[in-house]
Parts: sequence; C-alpha cells; structure tokens
Amino acid sequence: MKGKIIVTGGCGYIGSHTVVSLIENGYEAVVFDNLSNSKEFILDRIKEITGKKPRLEKVDLADEQQAKAAYKKHRDAMAIINFAAYKAVGESVKEPLLYYKNNLSSLLNTLQGQVDNGIENIIFSSSATVYGEPDVLPISENNETKRPFSPYGNTKKMAEEILEDFSYANSNFSAISLRYFNPIGAHQSGLIGEFPSGTPNNLLPYVTQCAAGVLKELQVFGNDYPSKDGTPIRDYIHVVDLAVAHVKAVERLVTNKNKSNFEVFNLGTGNGYTVLDIINTFESVANLKLNYKIVGRREGDVTALYAATNLAKDELDWQSKFDLEDMISSAWKWEQNLRSGTKFSN
Ligand code: NAD
Ligand code: UDP
Repeated sequence: MKGKIIVTGGCGYIGSHTVVSLIENGYEAVVFDNLSNSKEFILDRIKEITGKKPRLEKVDLADEQQAKAAYKKHRDAMAIINFAAYKAVGESVKEPLLYYKNNLSSLLNTLQGQVDNGIENIIFSSSATVYGEPDVLPISENNETKRPFSPYGNTKKMAEEILEDFSYANSNFSAISLRYFNPIGAHQSGLIGEFPSGTPNNLLPYVTQCAAGVLKELQVFGNDYPSKDGTPIRDYIHVVDLAVAHVKAVERLVTNKNKSNFEVFNLGTGNGYTVLDIINTFESVANLKLNYKIVGRREGDVTALYAATNLAKDELDWQSKFDLEDMISSAWKWEQNLRSGTKFSN
C-alpha cells in the first residue's frame, strides 16, 4: 500500500473514477462526501471494479466542525484530492451565495484541515472556465485568466487564488490545480458514471438522455459561430483519462517532483470538436438518429476552447488515451445500464 489519500466528493462523477484509479495504483482512498449529489452504492460499484470498498466519511465539508473532526481522524493522509463542490452553472446564477458558501467554505475548511493535521498536499478540481473567451488557441496555462461568466465558474477562479496565496504563505504545503476541459464518458465496466441531477445542462448527458427517450429533443445552441459547421468547439476528455491524471498529480507531490508549491495543469486532449461532431459521432456509435433542432445561442457560451497539452505531458507524464468514440460509447453504455432496470438506491 502506497498510503492514504482523502478524496472529497469521491462518490461523485469524477471522484468515483479517480478512487478506482487510486486503488488500482496501490493507494488507500478514503472518501469524504455528504452525498448531496451522489449515491452511497457507488462505493459497492467501486468494490466490484477494484475488489476494495473505500471507507466513507459522511461529512458536509462546508461545516467547519464536521470538517475539522473528519480531517483529524485521517491526519495520516498523504494528500487530499478536492472534488467536493456544487457544479450546476445555471443554478449558480440564480443562487450565487449557495455556490460561494458551499464551494469556498469547503475549500477553506479543507485547507484548515491540512494546517491542523500537517497534511501537506492538495489537488484541486478547476476548470477551463477560468480562461473565459480565450484570445489565443490552443489555451496554454500561461493564457490570461478572466472573470468567469457564472458564480460557479468564479468559485473556481477564486479557489485558485486562495490556493496560490495559501501555498505562498505556507511553504510546507503544495497544491496542484487541474483545469479540466469537458469531461465526458464513463468507466468501461458501465458500473460507474455521471448522475446529472434533474435535467442535464451539459451536452453529453443531454444527448444520451434524448437517445434513451428520457428527454424529447436536443437543442443545439447556435449555428452561427465561426467554426466549420457554425457550432461551438470544445475539448472533450474521457473521465478515465482525467482520473489517471489525478493519480499522476498525487505522485508528483508525494515524491516532491513539483517545481513550485502551486502548479496549474490543463487536462484536455488538445482536439476540438463541434456540437455537430458530437451528434454525428453519437449517431454512428449508437446506430440511431437523434431528435435535435438548432436554436439560438446560450448566454455565456464561447466559440472555441481547447487545451495546449504539452505541460501536462512533460511535467505530469500524462496524456489522454481515449478517443471521441471511446468517450461517447462508454457514456451511452452507462446511460443504457441506468435505464435497464438496474436497481439504484442508497
Ligand atoms: P459531482 O457533483 O458528481 O461530484 C461532487 C461530489 O461532491 C458529490 O458527490 C457531492 O455529493 C459532493 N459534495 C458537494 N458538496 C459537498 C460538501 N459540502 N461536503 C461534502 N461533499 C460535497 O461533480 P463532478 O462532475 O464529479 O465534479 C467534481 C469536481 O470537478 C467539482 O469540483 C466540479 O466543479 C469540478 N469540475 C467538473 C466538471 C464537469 O464537467 N463534471 C468540469 C470542470 C470541473
Ligand atoms: N450544448 C448544446 N445543447 C445542450 C447543451 C450544450 O448545444 O443542450 C452546447 C453548448 O452550447 C456548448 C457545448 O454544447 O457549445 C458544450 O456545452 P456543455 O454545457 O456540455 O459544456 P461547457 O463547455 O458549456 O462547459
């Protein structure tokens, strides 16, 4: 066993895939989650995949006392991977305080947990949203960051600033912020994947739910962007590739290979696909026709986002392995399992 890693939000979409990767790489993963957007049975699914059921601490990390007790109990951890956050962009516009409180209090209580217990390393889930509408493509980590459109996005930008200040003031502590582009897909087993709560905002769950007959029609938000078919371009990245990158980031910190105590890496494939590319690939992978129509642009959407990937490759020794068909076919397999009468309960 290589040591204990605390995974906050480890029952969630990206967290659960990362827990699988950590276990597969010889780490003990302890999950801190309040199950506000996830289900406890995911831990049994992780056991089905890896043979090990991770321990769960049911804790609201935005609550100072609960967080304090949980971190004290696991003071022997080598690192924390911080996924716990709310992530619905639209909801954050309507309820900004909910988002600032949950996402930032959780982070502050986690950093305090590090200080109180001498847990030296943290990996943070950030997002390409911190780049806003980029002036230069592909987007490198040196691109300017801008105030994101939504309060959700702004919690990521503010969290990075907090981490940078924290690392500057505490040279014993190291942080890596991973800026995800567009995570999609599911574990190849079909046992874990994304549970969007309510109607999904993101493209892929919307596509798979339309195909499964849960939703009637996909709306394509605008075809007047300056791209090959007029629809916006994004860098879609397989969640299993993302999970592996988190293990690489942990390894970098625990072996002191980091070059400064606050580092930032993009996690993307470097390839840009339009919304119509996604629809066409889905139709070919699933062998069915999607019911979609072109509507007006969605507020806040930018034309193109795709990552420069060389820093992650050189420094983290990580690059994506899965292609768009892998991503879409695994997402479709997960959706079909969800709808096939498989029992899901807590
Ligand atoms: P998710 O909602 O599936 O997982 C988040 C987990 O955190 C859930 O299990 C939830 O119950 C838990 N949680 C939330 N608030 C908590 C709290 N106060 N205390 C304890 N647990 C709490 O989301 P995800 O898609 O796996 O995203 C993980 C992280 O990655 C988030 O920080 C998200 O903002 C970030 N991110 C996600 C995407 C994406 O497209 N999925 C893109 C960029 C960044
Ligand atoms: N999109 C769409 N219809 C939807 C959801 C998304 O056309 O129902 C488009 C959206 O305009 C964007 C792309 O799909 O160009 C990816 O959107 P998503 O919300 O998944 O991720 P974002 O890049 O906005 O974080």
